[in-house]
Amino acid sequence: PDDETLPAVPGRASLASEAVEWRHRTIGGRIIDVEITSHPFQFESHDAMLVVALDITERKRVIRALADSEERFRSLVQNACDMITVIRADTTVIYQSPSCEVILGYDAAGLVGRMLSEIVHAEDSDRLLAFLALATTKPSTATTFEARLRHFDDTWRTFEIVGSDHTADPAVGGFVLNTRDISERKVLEQQLRDQAFQDALTGLANRARFMDRLEHALERSVRGPDSVAVLFIDLDNFKSVNDTHGHAAGDNVLIQVGQRVQNCLRTGDTVARLGGDEFAVLIEDIATSEVAERLASRVVDEISKAFVLSDGSEVTIGASVGVSFINEQDATRDLVQDADVAMYIAKTRGKSRYEIYNADMHTAMAQKLELVADLQHALEKPELFLEYQPTFRLSTGELTGVEALVRWQHPKRGRVMPAAFIARAEESGLILALGRWVLSMACRQARQWQMRYGDDFGSMSVNISVRQLQQPTFVEEVADILRETGVDPSRIVLEITESVMMQEVDSTIPVLDSLKRLGVRLAIDDFGTGYSSLSYLARYPFDILKIDKSFIDGIDEPGNQVELIRAIIEIAKVLGLEVVAEGIEREAQAMQLRDLTCDIAQGFLFSQPVSPAAIAEMLDRLRENLAA
Ligand code: C2E
Ligand code: MG
Ligand code: MG
Repeated sequence: PDDETLPAVPGRASLASEAVEWRHRTIGGRIIDVEITSHPFQFESHDAMLVVALDITERKRVIRALADSEERFRSLVQNACDMITVIRADTTVIYQSPSCEVILGYDAAGLVGRMLSEIVHAEDSDRLLAFLALATTKPSTATTFEARLRHFDDTWRTFEIVGSDHTADPAVGGFVLNTRDISERKVLEQQLRDQAFQDALTGLANRARFMDRLEHALERSVRGPDSVAVLFIDLDNFKSVNDTHGHAAGDNVLIQVGQRVQNCLRTGDTVARLGGDEFAVLIEDIATSEVAERLASRVVDEISKAFVLSDGSEVTIGASVGVSFINEQDATRDLVQDADVAMYIAKTRGKSRYEIYNADMHTAMAQKLELVADLQHALEKPELFLEYQPTFRLSTGELTGVEALVRWQHPKRGRVMPAAFIARAEESGLILALGRWVLSMACRQARQWQMRYGDDFGSMSVNISVRQLQQPTFVEEVADILRETGVDPSRIVLEITESVMMQEVDSTIPVLDSLKRLGVRLAIDDFGTGYSSLSYLARYPFDILKIDKSFIDGIDEPGNQVELIRAIIEIAKVLGLEVVAEGIEREAQAMQLRDLTCDIAQGFLFSQPVSPAAIAEMLDRLRENLAA
């Protein structure tokens, strides 16, 4: 017994029944609260006392807790940031802390007696009721929920409410709600969420949001009769914008692309940037695939129009679009993947176009991917080889040189022509290694023929991909190969396809100038297939112009084609360019070109691309003829 009230007990023993509390240590060492009451009575004419000790530990605990909670309660109420409201089960406010005036604009006293549900947003009142139901079943635990409350100025504020049931607690007698304004936090959270679902550059949806929308659209399409379509958009030649005009210009183009795509769509459709130069469109509630097709065609048209950069210059790119389309019968397909496959097919069929997905495409696609892997091996093993197609001077018939053309002896497919793999090599970047191999191989061969045949062997032409030109180390690489092989640089002609490079005048010209300083000559290949205007030609340091086969094809038939070729040849002559006609197959074409004063001829009429041994044979014969 360590309670100071203990000594009082015996002293008061003679008094009438009275309760005394004391603390008592039990035999087990536990301290309990005891209430002792003494009851005097007469026993066999003696004063006697009945002492009853009652364990009141639990009761004392409750009372102490109540005192504590009152204190806590007071301190909570005085916290100005939060608002304490005590309500009854029917939401009648029985206490309201003064902070209410700052937080909600109401006079605290005025709120007491009203129903809290009056100022709770209709959509959130269920939450309040759910809280009341839950809190009653678990009295001592706090529950958190969010609800909008109407401010005195009639605006809605969002609150986080921590509530618990204290109805059994005499000091409280209701449900205590600790209410905190989180409107600002909500705004911030929304911003963060937006950011997480938004492409920062274009402001469009990002991949995450796109996939989310798609999922919902597919769920709806299972229920309804309408269909969902996905357009997968990949820009053509976008890399060249970045490389030649800088990343800021590239970003600018991406933003404009986003706007143009958006302008093609209806309001409910979703445009997303999936990353890099890939965009996707989700079209919902369409009755037929033609709607999606029309949109795809519009997108292709819009993107093919020139983009104006901030410095006023223009760039032209394109878009390859794949379309996949779903209806309720096959809602489990991966629409994005299918659209992606269709997009790839659009690329391989010439870019700046759209294709609708069909199941056969998957097989074609798998074969393409396999091709790239195989090509990688081909570069390591001796599967690649060169053929050489000779060129001849039209006026004299003399051999002027050869063009190196790569071929691939595929272990399973046999001979594969460049049309089947150059584009894939360019996309995958393998073209860099491949191009280097071709150039060094061709230079070595040229050096050998130069030694053996002297001037009888003319020039060696090598095709260069634009991707190679864009490599900062390209000029150095060419210089290295020229040095290593010991070939006379003036014998080497680098052929560059007209199409892409013409748009990138400013960045391409310095590279071409550097190449010329190495002593090599430059040819513009496939002239007439690109976007170039003849006036551009004057700005480039080309030596040779190769007219594309497509112009030559109809030259022996009546029509305007002849006049066009005549004009090209005349301008080329003014600019001091040597003119080569590609793809001559008929004698009539050769005659016509001779009349038009075209210098050089290349085509099956004269020779197919052949092995180095066959070229050597030609040169040998030439020498014998001259000797005879
Ligand atoms: P290109 O540079 O315009 O080469 C001429 C192509 O036309 C060659 O096709 C040649 O075989 C073909 N050709 C020549 N005369 C005739 C003819 O009279 N009739 C027909 N129908 N075709 C003719 P090939 O060898 O299939 O090469 C196609 C293209 O692949 C080349 O076009 C070139 O752009 C590219 N290529 C070839 N080798 C390489 C290479 O090593 N590197 C790069 N980057 N591209 C290459
Ligand atoms: Mg060529
Ligand atoms: Mg060509």
